[in-house]
Amino acid sequence: MIFSPNAIQRLTRALVCTALLALCYGPLARAAVPEVSYTVSLASPEQHLVEVQIMLPPGAGDRELQLPVWNALYQIRDFSQYVNWVRAKDRSGKPLEVLEINPSRWQVKGAADGAIVEYQIYEDSPGPFGAQLNPHHAFFNLAQLLMYAVDAREVPLSLHFSRVPSDWSIATPLSSQDDSFHADNYDRLVDSPVEIGKFQESDFDEAGGHFRVIIDADPSDYDAQKIVAALHKIVASAISWMNDRPFDSYTFFYHFPRGPAGGGMEHAYSTAIDLNADQVKGGLDALTGVTAHEFFHLWNVKRIRPQTLEPIDYTKENYTPALWFSEGVTSTAEGMIQLRAGLLNEQQYLVRLGEEITELERRPAHLTQSAEQSSLDAWLEGFGYYRRPERSISYYNKGELLGIMLDLAMRDSSHGHASLRELLQWMNLNDAKQGKFFDDSNGVRQAAEAVSHADLGWFFARYVAGTDEIPWDDFLRSAGLHVEAVTNTVADPGFLGSRNFDGPMAVAAVTPGSEADRAGLQVGDSIVELQGKPAGQDSRQQLSRLSPGDTLSVKVRSRRGGERELKWKVGARHEISYEVKNLDKVTPEQHTRRAAWLAGEAQTDSSAGSSGK
Ligand SMILES: [Zn+2]
Repeated sequence: MIFSPNAIQRLTRALVCTALLALCYGPLARAAVPEVSYTVSLASPEQHLVEVQIMLPPGAGDRELQLPVWNALYQIRDFSQYVNWVRAKDRSGKPLEVLEINPSRWQVKGAADGAIVEYQIYEDSPGPFGAQLNPHHAFFNLAQLLMYAVDAREVPLSLHFSRVPSDWSIATPLSSQDDSFHADNYDRLVDSPVEIGKFQESDFDEAGGHFRVIIDADPSDYDAQKIVAALHKIVASAISWMNDRPFDSYTFFYHFPRGPAGGGMEHAYSTAIDLNADQVKGGLDALTGVTAHEFFHLWNVKRIRPQTLEPIDYTKENYTPALWFSEGVTSTAEGMIQLRAGLLNEQQYLVRLGEEITELERRPAHLTQSAEQSSLDAWLEGFGYYRRPERSISYYNKGELLGIMLDLAMRDSSHGHASLRELLQWMNLNDAKQGKFFDDSNGVRQAAEAVSHADLGWFFARYVAGTDEIPWDDFLRSAGLHVEAVTNTVADPGFLGSRNFDGPMAVAAVTPGSEADRAGLQVGDSIVELQGKPAGQDSRQQLSRLSPGDTLSVKVRSRRGGERELKWKVGARHEISYEVKNLDKVTPEQHTRRAAWLAGEAQTDSSAGSSGK
């Protein structure tokens, strides 16, 4: 929803309404569902300071308020580090005692008749996972900003913004009424990002849904028409693949900063995506990939959701072994959506598949850490050592490959009648639409077996829970493909980069004694600039284009926050890459299977034939 705000004091009105209800209707009003209302004041954009007022309805005498310690990213970030002060008063303005229970939780005393809690918080974390107020704009992930009343997390909430500059507008997927926004509960509220500023808006309709595109960037850096044309294709492809559109309206938020950027964050009714301006100018490949991924999340993880992520515990980690599916298979779906939308062709897809296989095979930890363990350990990804190739694999990487191999395995065991598409639709209908969360990997296995009518326990035991080498050729044979190992002399930058969530590349390992080591590159550094240009999600591809002897210049940010510029000569080494190639002789059945696989479709009776292993 977008509107130009005016300066009506919502808080005063809410206070009067609630007070009147309590006075006039007494017990009746107490029995009704109370509403917590928030007023967020964009007090000092230059200082990045936001002031929040929470109107608590009458209730228990001692009330607890919690600021989440994490949100969205599977990483403890302790947002309370930014809270400057907290205070509370009653309706007459008399101060109430506020007791700190732990660094993220406060208790307000004497709040039986309701209370007004106020706090000041510093917000200057840019990007789709952050919260930021500056003179240019505000973008908020609200869990980073808004405390919840522990006894009122499930109640309807209202949100009003005050001291918004007169030429700024507000965009959020939250429903609006008058000058405030509403959510049925806190979880829904904080799953709804908010952009406030002078953004560009486009709207379009596709497949019966309404889509808003909010772009905050320099207009000379992008072509909104081209972006909207690509979005039409992506949403049409995804909706037809899932045969479902569980929303009326959906919002895309884009930021294209000229500095470092990269990443996307999924929400049930929106996504926020940051890409470096150069990545958007040079073509839309990066944008369509991350957009297809984040859009598909509206099903996978937001609605088709593992039990271990629910209920959300904002006070500590929600450990889940299912991110290989929720993230990795979302990447599998990203590829399918791009293929079906004509944004990726067969050859490009197979090249990418080879790169993913190469990435997994090159990490020694693929023999020691399973896809489920990688999911459980996601919370360790903030630590440099954890990201080393001998310590961990990526649940994005292995999960995407498992999605592809499971697709092929289901086709094999069902003579082409069942595919990943049927699996995802089954989980959507039998779990998501029934209000159920799936039983982690067991739930995926249950769905895979239900649609393929076959025992797939071996797949989950060996490759999901286990660390067996994946026999790529056995899976790819029915599509007329196999994997070839190719040894090349390649540029050796002297370090290994790893994807940190959906964010920028971080240095996972530095080769001892290498030029990079001598230049001072350290594990845990984030790559901010590569060859004089802001680093983005294509950093890995940029590095792969280097030749031995090239000079590599980077700007890095250390984990403590300081930035350094480093330069060194790229070395050389032998390296094995894996490429997905045609078998010497591809049969008509194999061609048919491949065509169905890359179309994301099951085979019809006439096309199914009797291929398979
Ligand atoms: Zn994702």
